[in-house]
Amino acid sequence: MIKTSLCGLTADEIDELAGSDRRHAIAIANCLYKKKINDIMLIPDIPVKVKKELKEKSFPGIYPPVASKESTDGTIKFLFRNERGQEFETVLLKDKKRTTVCVSSQSGCRMGCPFCVTGQYGFRGNLSIRDILTQVLGIPHSGVVTHVVFMGMGEPFDNPENVMKACNILSAEWGPAISVRNITVSTVGITPAIRSFLEKTDCNITLSLYSPFHDERYLTIPAEKSYPAYEIIDLMKNLQLNKKRRLSVAYIMISNTNDTEKHLEGLKALLRGTAIRINLLPYHRIPGDDKISSSPERLQYFKHELIVSGISASVRKSTGLDVSAACGLLASGLK
Ligand code: SF4
Repeated sequence: MIKTSLCGLTADEIDELAGSDRRHAIAIANCLYKKKINDIMLIPDIPVKVKKELKEKSFPGIYPPVASKESTDGTIKFLFRNERGQEFETVLLKDKKRTTVCVSSQSGCRMGCPFCVTGQYGFRGNLSIRDILTQVLGIPHSGVVTHVVFMGMGEPFDNPENVMKACNILSAEWGPAISVRNITVSTVGITPAIRSFLEKTDCNITLSLYSPFHDERYLTIPAEKSYPAYEIIDLMKNLQLNKKRRLSVAYIMISNTNDTEKHLEGLKALLRGTAIRINLLPYHRIPGDDKISSSPERLQYFKHELIVSGISASVRKSTGLDVSAACGLLASGLK
């Protein structure tokens, strides 16, 4: 009999599998997702008979990383390998107020963005819900995680069902109970899946923009051909914002490429009068590319100009560069 991994199941699915009492399913889910038990027989307050039957059909399923590297700035990069041999990386970022896990949704990626090492690595497959959750639950720091961002390897909305279900489990009361305010999915833009995600979850979303101009983005970001960013921005603008959700765009700034005055005006025109926040990011040069990041002063100048135009803007600093854990560099060490 093939056993089912409990990690990846909702409380309802555990209930169905255990076939006993709903309260038992909730207790099992709480124990699994909050205490990260690795032995079903150790779950308290459940009849031994129920545990024995469950053990015959299932196993906890949380697994640890196979390697890790720590940056001088405290950022840690983990390497995971699932039972199908797919490899994927996860990044832990710590600051005074929060501990964030940056998770992967795919092994590799097929979106082909030119500024990203993961795109160069190619596509090795979608990650299961278990693979996604284990990146939060299987690391030594899982007990202190406050935020989860889907900004690791892969395009989350190329694996929408698993990402959506993982978000729902991460935020469930019987799950790790991470607030939906603290879960963010980053996308290069796949409109139908974004629409569905916005309807079915309250989590945050961020669009990786690259250029405010359709023609320019069309030539650089393959996804723009099918799903123009202006449609996604319209979708975000028209969304009735509830207090829980944050909508944002990520803008990687490349010197003399997308950091001109024209681009600044384009960003203002696109975002003015909306509740969409913009995060400005330095570019992390990838192998074989001769482009360089905009200077820190240029990033601050864009931030200032956007803020005085009434647009919420911030500059995100680079972390984990020395272990290739920074944005766009995941999969650097994989073959
Ligand atoms: S930036 Fe994101 S969507 Fe684009 S290739 Fe890299 S991982 Fe894929």
